Amino acid sequence: MPRVVITGAAGFIGSHLAETLLDRGYSVVGIDNLLTGDTANIAHLANRDFMFIKHDVTNYIYIDGPVDAVLHWASPASPIDYLELPIPTLKVGALGTHKALGLAKEKKARFVIASTSEVYGDPLEHPQKETYWGNVNPVGPRGVYDEAKRFAEAMTMAYHRYHGVDAKIVRIFNTYGPRMRVNDGRSVPAFMSQALRNEHVTIFGDGSQTRSFCYVTDLVDGILRLMDSATNEPVNIGNPHELTIKQIAETIIRMTGSTSQLVYRPLPEDDPKVRRPDITKARTLLGWEPKVSLEDGLTRTIEYFRKKVLG
Ligand code: NAD
Repeated sequence: MPRVVITGAAGFIGSHLAETLLDRGYSVVGIDNLLTGDTANIAHLANRDFMFIKHDVTNYIYIDGPVDAVLHWASPASPIDYLELPIPTLKVGALGTHKALGLAKEKKARFVIASTSEVYGDPLEHPQKETYWGNVNPVGPRGVYDEAKRFAEAMTMAYHRYHGVDAKIVRIFNTYGPRMRVNDGRSVPAFMSQALRNEHVTIFGDGSQTRSFCYVTDLVDGILRLMDSATNEPVNIGNPHELTIKQIAETIIRMTGSTSQLVYRPLPEDDPKVRRPDITKARTLLGWEPKVSLEDGLTRTIEYFRKKVLG
């Protein structure tokens, strides 16, 4: 039975990855220090072929026995988290990636790293292709996340070129779904919890900035196709359906049947104005494209947040 190690397994995406890999017959080892994750996300995996190790992956990672793939997902990921945790974010991107790559090298395992559309920064090219090098402010507050991921990509390619690790880089665009934290500051959970409580829905800026939201099961399918592929080049995985933040807020208010009104606050520093993946590469190399419509994805996510927020 193939065995996969997932760092960040108790997080939003990591827990969905673990579940899908178990469903596909893999044995899964999940590692997490619970910095922004929660064992509640993986509690339902307890009676399956899943082992959990509480560990900070910026320290040496020891795993007994064979490993076929290492999926490095550990990192604070929401702006609230990485602005509160700037040094742990830089450390997990640098030292954590180094340790996860070391494990893959030692076990002769494939390696997949969760990179991000944030490597494109506030993009001057739209939509963003993998060939775009980005527009990142290294000394701005968001630089801790963006540069950690850019460093992590460089480290990954160095291990691929110098040590021959079969490494893959997935540049993830905004993803949503059940198990996001209510208060993690990302727009979908924030809008949902405010709308479900009939509170004001807060928009940063005038709401004309755009994002492209991918439902988590589509993302996981893309990641696993990349893991099984022969490519070692970065691949964007995201939903090219681009919406303004205001449109997302209005859709969530409508779908939750809320009476909430929109209120506007100043835009945070270096907030990207536009964001949409060019997924030509994922289509041609992986035969992947997103399948879950925004309405379906939001319906499933609202169901989860309704229980979390209203009990
Ligand atoms: P998350 O915060 O829910 O999950 C991250 C997990 O990593 C948490 O469980 C946390 O406890 C763990 N972690 C952090 N530092 C660690 C360390 N030093 N050692 C061990 N575990 C550690 O976030 P998420 O949304 O699931 O994001 C997962 C990955 O995907 C991140 O690498 C993130 O950068 C990337 N990503 C996510 C999105 C998105 O839209 N959610 C977009 C782009 C990239």
